[in-house]
Amino acid sequence: MTAAHGEQSAVRVFYACVLPLQLRPEVGEIARATARRVHGRPVPADNLHLTLAFIGEIASSRLPTLIDVGAMQRGGAMTLVLDRLGGFKRAGVAWLGSSRPPVELGRFAAALARALVAAGIARDERPFHPHVTIARRCHVSPDEQPIGPYSWGIDGFELLQSETGREGARYRRLAKWPLTIEPEHPER
Ligand code: ATP
Ligand code: MG
Repeated sequence: MTAAHGEQSAVRVFYACVLPLQLRPEVGEIARATARRVHGRPVPADNLHLTLAFIGEIASSRLPTLIDVGAMQRGGAMTLVLDRLGGFKRAGVAWLGSSRPPVELGRFAAALARALVAAGIARDERPFHPHVTIARRCHVSPDEQPIGPYSWGIDGFELLQSETGREGARYRRLAKWPLTIEPEHPER
């Protein structure tokens, strides 16, 4: 479909935390090794991310609203320890996850989801299972096992546009926000 008048064009977007540069070589290698083992396609190291909220196809005229919603969110930095490797069998993906995801991460994703609903943005209703997809189109589902651990200091999140190219998905950053708000009443 061509968009003769711009404002009707659709984009595919999602909010995510992108794996920091320092972790990409090592996690990228795990992705390649896992993909070989399960006969899947590794996610390229620069594409590794954790989806906070998936929007899907939306009119590009709604992008300012999505950027406003992102800018409204407040949160502090958190540490996600990636210590599990597993698979979603039906989806044919392999992932890295955490045996103890920080509660703030679930709270942050829930607050973002509520803000999207309040802004009139329909979004996917799947429950939030924080994970980093490392391989797709896997023919075998890896048994869940320990890995790492890799400590990810999450200090921001992004709005990404997903474009499917010949060599798989490409993500374009539309906006980025820090997660640096200190809690007002630190827990003792
Ligand atoms: P491709 O689909 O081209 O193989 P991709 O899955 O990375 O690549 P998208 O389908 O645009 O690209 O998805 C972007 C992100 O959103 C990915 O992390 C994906 O797992 C996640 N995602 C996709 N669809 C949903 C959905 N219905 N609910 C929740 N998350 C989703
Ligand atoms: Mg997909």
